[in-house]
Amino acid sequence: MTILQPLAQQHFNRSLDELSNQEVYQLLVQLIQERAKDLPLFEGKKKVYYVSAEFLIGKLLSNNLLNLGIFDEVKAELEDADFTLEEIEAEENEPSLGNGGLGRLAACFIDSIASLGLPGDGVGLNYHFGLFQQYFKHNSQFYKPDEWLPGTNFLTKSSLQFEVPFTDFTLTSTLYDIEVLGYQQSGRNRLRLFDLDSVDPEIIEPGTISFDKEKIAENLTLFLYPDDSDAEGEKLRVFQQYFMVSNAAQLLIQEAIERGSNVHDLADYAVVQINDTHPTLIIPELVRLLTTEHEISFDEAVEITQNVVAFTNHTILAEALETWPMSYIEAVTSDVAAIIRQLDERFKAEHPQPASIQIIDDNDTVHMASLAINYGFSTNGVSQLHTDILKESTLKDFYELYPDQFHGLTNGITFRRWLMMANPGLSTLLDETIGKDWRKDSDLSALEQFKDDDAFLAKLADVKQVNKEALNQFLQANQDVTINTNSIVDVQVKRIHEYKRQQMLALYIIYKYFAIKGGQKPETPITIIFGGKAAPAYTIAQDIIHLILNLSELIANDPEVSPYLQVVFVENYNVTAGTYLFTAADISEQISLASKEASGTGNMKFMVNGAVTLMTWDGANIEIAEHAGLDNVYSFGREAQEIVKLYDTDGYNAAEYYEHDTIKPLVDFIVSDEMLAIGDEEKLRRLYNDIINKDYFMALIDLEAFIDVKEKMYADYTNQKAWRQKALMNIANAGFFSSDRVIKEYNEQIWHLD
Ligand SMILES: *Cc1c(COP(=O)(O)O)cnc(C)c1O
Repeated sequence: MTILQPLAQQHFNRSLDELSNQEVYQLLVQLIQERAKDLPLFEGKKKVYYVSAEFLIGKLLSNNLLNLGIFDEVKAELEDADFTLEEIEAEENEPSLGNGGLGRLAACFIDSIASLGLPGDGVGLNYHFGLFQQYFKHNSQFYKPDEWLPGTNFLTKSSLQFEVPFTDFTLTSTLYDIEVLGYQQSGRNRLRLFDLDSVDPEIIEPGTISFDKEKIAENLTLFLYPDDSDAEGEKLRVFQQYFMVSNAAQLLIQEAIERGSNVHDLADYAVVQINDTHPTLIIPELVRLLTTEHEISFDEAVEITQNVVAFTNHTILAEALETWPMSYIEAVTSDVAAIIRQLDERFKAEHPQPASIQIIDDNDTVHMASLAINYGFSTNGVSQLHTDILKESTLKDFYELYPDQFHGLTNGITFRRWLMMANPGLSTLLDETIGKDWRKDSDLSALEQFKDDDAFLAKLADVKQVNKEALNQFLQANQDVTINTNSIVDVQVKRIHEYKRQQMLALYIIYKYFAIKGGQKPETPITIIFGGKAAPAYTIAQDIIHLILNLSELIANDPEVSPYLQVVFVENYNVTAGTYLFTAADISEQISLASKEASGTGNMKFMVNGAVTLMTWDGANIEIAEHAGLDNVYSFGREAQEIVKLYDTDGYNAAEYYEHDTIKPLVDFIVSDEMLAIGDEEKLRRLYNDIINKDYFMALIDLEAFIDVKEKMYADYTNQKAWRQKALMNIANAGFFSSDRVIKEYNEQIWHLD
C-alpha cells in the first residue's frame, strides 16, 4: 500500500523520491489535515473547555501520524524513497505556544481528552514568538524571538470572529484551530487559538525581544509572558488574559446555544477548567456576557458561572500567586472591573473575615486565586503532597470554608508522545515482551515478571545505548557538542529556578571536579546535562546558568578531569530536545526543595523511559517512589513538614551551613581565580553572595546529603544488572502516571461529561 506516492504525483507531478524534504513535509501536513477533516468532532451534550495561557504541544507531524494509525506505513514508505521520518520532521518548527510544565500538562491533557473520545477543546492564544528562543554567548543566556509561524504548519484559520471590548477600544479576534486527534479514535477535538490580524512583528526592535508595550493592537499576541518589569508590561499581560477569556467565554456560549442550551442551563452544556489563575477573568467575563447579551439577572449569572468554572492550582509559592491592581483591570476592561467589585462585595457581605480569602484587598489589589476559588465550583491540586499542603497551609482558610470543593489529581503525561513516539526502541521491546495492550491502557505492570531475565535486561540496556547515540547526534547537530555515549547520562532539564536547585547540582559538580583533581577517578565517566530557560527578569537564575556554563568550559579544558566528567547545557530546551533527553538518561534529577514543586511531570517522562530518579520528597516524586518501590529510587533531603516549619519560624541560616568544612570550599570556588578568569565577576559574586547570605531556597541545607547519594548512585551504576532491574521496575510501574488516568479522574470528579 502506498499513501504518499499518488499524492506526490497529484501535487507535484513528480515521484516521491524526487521531492525535497520540504515538499515531503508539505505533502504529509496536507495528508494529515485531509484525514483529520474526515473525522467528525467528538460530540456530547456537555463539553469541556481547557483554558490555558500555554500549550507546549511540541511538533505534531509524528504525533498525528501515530494517532491516525498510519505512522508505520508512512515511515516505511518514506524509507523506501530514501527519506527518514526524522529528517522530514526537521522541516517542522516546534510551535512556541508554551514554556514549561504547566503548558506541557495542557498539551498532554488535550491529547488524552481526545484519546478517550471525550468532547473537549483547548483554548488559548496564538503567540507568534512564544517566550523566547534561548542561545548562549559569553557563557550567558541571550534572547531571540522564537519564530514558528512562517511556512507550512498545522494551523487552520477559521471564520469565527468575536468582538472584545476593552475600556478604550474594541478589537476583533481571529480564531485559528489545530486539530487534536485522539489515539486510534474515530473523532477529533481542536485547540482553539485566538489572535489579531493587526499584530505586527515589525514593532519588535531588531535583535531583541523588546517592543512598544502600549501598542496593544500590534503587540497583543507577539509573546507569551511579555516582560512585566514595568506597569505597561503588567497591563499588557492583563490585556492578553482578558482577550483570551473573552473569546473563550463567547465561544463556549455560542457553541452551547448551537447544541441546544437556553443559556440558563449553560452548566449542563459546558465546563471550563482553568489552568492556573491566568484565565480567572473568565468568571466576571461570563457574568458580563450573561447579563448584557443574554438578559440574565446578575444573581442568576453568578450562579450559572459558578457551576461552569473549575480551577487548577499549580503553585504553593506565595509569591507566585497572581494579583493585579484594580487600576490595571480598569484600564483594560472597566466593565469586568465593575463586576469584580460586585463579586467582591457580595462575598464580603457573607464572609467579612478572614482577610486571607478576600478577592480585593485593602490596597485595591485583586487576588486571582480568591476569585477563582470563591466563584468556581472546584479547586484541585496536582499531586498528593501539593493537595495536602494547599489544604493545610496555602489555601487552609478556603478549605475550611469549602471542604467538598477540593480535589487532588496527581498529574500525568501522555504515553503516546513520551513513550511511543519518543522511544520507538523501548516501545517495540515492550510490544515483543508484554504485547501491545499497553498502547491503549498504559498498563506496563506485566514487565515485572522479566526482572530476573538476563536476556531482557540486556535488551533494555541496548535500547538505552541506542538512545544515547541518538542524543549525541542531536547535540552534535544542535550545538556542536559531543558526549561520551559510554558514560552515565545524568540529566536535570526544567525551567531554571532556585527552588528547583540547579545551583545545588552545580555545587556537586565542583565537589566532583575537586575529587577527580585529587585522584579519585570515577569508574564510569559521567555526563551531567542541564537544559532550561530562565525568565529574563530573574537575575539569580541567569547567574546560575552562567555558573554552569563556566564550569562546563573549565572542565572541558582540563585534560585531568574531562575524560571522567563532562557538563553540557542544552541550548533552548524544548519538547524536541526533551524527546532525546528523557529517553537517553540514566539518572533523573528531581531535587527541588521539599514542598516547592507542585507535581513535576518531567519526573514521569524519565520514569517511563527507564531512568532512575534521584529525588527529594517533593511533588509527585513521592508517588513515583511509592509506585516504583523505595529500592528503585534514590532519595535524600529534608522533608516538606520540616521545610515549611523553617519558613514559618525563619529558622534557616545559610551562613551556618556555609561554614561546614565540606561546603565552604565548594561555594568559595564560585569566585575562585579559575572561575573569574573565564566568567563575569559581577554575576559570579552576586550568586556567591546570594548563596552565603540568603539562599532562600536552601540549596545548602541538603547539599551534604545530596553529595552522599550521588556518590552512591554512581557507584551502584557499575552493577549493571541491578541498575537495569531498577530501570525495569520504574517502567513497569509508570502506568499510574499516564494522563489518560488523570483525565478519567477529572471527568469522574469534576467535569461529568456523559
Ligand atoms: C515536561 C516538560 C517540562 C516540565 O518539566 P518539570 O521537570 O516537571 O519542571 C518543561 N519543559 C518541557 C519541554 C517538558 O517537556
